[in-house]
Amino acid sequence: MSSVSGRQSMVEYQLKRRGIEDEAVLAAMGSVPREAFVPEHMQAFAYEDGPLSIGGGQTISQPLIVAEMLQAARVRPGERVLDVGTGSGYGAAVAAAMGAIVSSIERDPALGERARQRLEALGYKVETRIGDGTLGLPEAAPFDAIIVAAASPGVPEPLTEQLAVGGRLVIPLERGPASQRLVRITRGEDGFREEALSRVSFVPLIGAHGRPESAATPDDGSRGK
Ligand code: SAM
Repeated sequence: MSSVSGRQSMVEYQLKRRGIEDEAVLAAMGSVPREAFVPEHMQAFAYEDGPLSIGGGQTISQPLIVAEMLQAARVRPGERVLDVGTGSGYGAAVAAAMGAIVSSIERDPALGERARQRLEALGYKVETRIGDGTLGLPEAAPFDAIIVAAASPGVPEPLTEQLAVGGRLVIPLERGPASQRLVRITRGEDGFREEALSRVSFVPLIGAHGRPESAATPDDGSRGK
């Protein structure tokens, strides 16, 4: 199957048929070459319905999860988006393809540098940073949307503080041992509203407002989100 038809069937069967309705998300996912974000020996699996190992004990998320997060964040052209957990850079590339102004932060320097080079080579305009994304990116705040691609024991306060009024934070939260829930927090004029979305399974968010370094995923090449 060519990468174009792989992408088309991913959009049709993995996304549209499972509740992704946001046309901007579907168009962007249909345009970004996922095979360019996975290691060469994984490229044949780029449009499979699951996460894939990208090295460093980390993964590129399942396409459906990337789409669910972008749909939940209601990303619109021209909005400022912070992507926490650059990983391969795929999620950031899809947000950029939706016309958002994207900053992306990754704690692992090797992964972050590879993603920076890849995004630049593919022509996606994303500002990449290496650092602790639980602290947000105060110099680029406020954000219309913040998307966190790793699971946190609680909501990192710097991230809610860096939301614009009307801004959305989409983050997987740990809800007990081996249980995680995707949550959307919307900043209103008078405070924050929290909505629980789907059950998910992400690697841990490691940082000052997340898990300690000892919780980092070992580099075992295993598959996970
Ligand atoms: N969105 C990515 C993609 O499209 O490839 C997948 C992200 S992967 C599931 C989660 C990433 O979060 C990992 O690369 C991990 O190193 C990173 N991460 C974990 N804690 C972090 C933190 N505090 N700040 C920034 N990145 C973090």
